Amino acid sequence: MRNALGLMLASVLAAVLIAGGWYFYSSRADQGAPKTTAARAADPLPAKLAAKDDVETTAAIAAKPTAVAAAPAPAPVPAPAPVQQTTTCTNPDALGVSRVVEIDTTGGPGFGFEQFKQFDFLTDKEVVLTFDDSPWPHNTPAVLKALADECTKGLFFSVGKHATWHPEILRQVLAQGHTVGTHTWSHVNLAGKKMTEQQAKDEIEKGFSAVKWALGTNPSPFFRFPQLSQSPALVSYLGTRNLGIFSTDIDSFDFRKENTPDKIVSNVMTKLDKLGKGIILMHDFQKRTGEALPTLLARLKAGGYKVVQIKAKTTFDSLPEYDEAILKELKVPTSGSATNARPISSVVQTVSQR
Ligand SMILES: [Zn+2]
Repeated sequence: MRNALGLMLASVLAAVLIAGGWYFYSSRADQGAPKTTAARAADPLPAKLAAKDDVETTAAIAAKPTAVAAAPAPAPVPAPAPVQQTTTCTNPDALGVSRVVEIDTTGGPGFGFEQFKQFDFLTDKEVVLTFDDSPWPHNTPAVLKALADECTKGLFFSVGKHATWHPEILRQVLAQGHTVGTHTWSHVNLAGKKMTEQQAKDEIEKGFSAVKWALGTNPSPFFRFPQLSQSPALVSYLGTRNLGIFSTDIDSFDFRKENTPDKIVSNVMTKLDKLGKGIILMHDFQKRTGEALPTLLARLKAGGYKVVQIKAKTTFDSLPEYDEAILKELKVPTSGSATNARPISSVVQTVSQR
């Protein structure tokens, strides 16, 4: 009898310890840095909260954790997560993410005081890290590594053509929990004299469809004009498509050849110390940006700045005719099996290597 009672007490104590340990672990993980989508999906969250989390476009990737289960599915099929995801931040002193905001893009709100003054959503010392023109070999992975080392998140504006050339890299961006919007099909100046309104719309829509193809899922409904060059007609059009427009507050000028990584850091910090907050414009397309980023993130932390992560309330609904145009562009057979529309990595994946 006494033995049985002792056993019961021990079991209760063990259960309490396990539960307490889990709570301690998860609250630390929440404070340290946002977990990856895979980790979130595995968490025993209440149904409501989990559903809210699914707003991010990464949900489709997390929902298919294994590549081996090749069950028939409608095209385009979400790609399996291309990189091993880490569940927690291993850097106890990381910059991290201080706040996650969700944007309702209905009607096409604009952000970034260089062109839009209406929505002043950042508070003092808050910054948003944005990266344009991705994905690109070496340079995008360098930016991803710097962000991962500091357990922080960015907002990427992908060029459609680049996304079709390097879909694997763009999927890494998404798999690591960053937000992916778009930046046209071929990075032309949409407000240029030679552009008709229809050509500009084609550039916008095709860019989204290309990124959707590369990701295997709808991107976030966020858009940035190449060279920040916009027209009232196109801004109105984006409004009808419920696309949030991102301009900037702080241009790093990292695209200029004469700017060294040190100069990029000082460009940002000088303007930031003056403004006190803002959306920072960078390019993961540029090698020097990946080189500058570790120092920049360290300076942000030392200066007491906090990173705000941007998410969208909904995903973007691409137009079927542009989805088809992308498949034609890529010479993907549109007849026959839907699997033909899938990027190579979602069909063939190395599961073991010697
Ligand atoms: Zn650009």
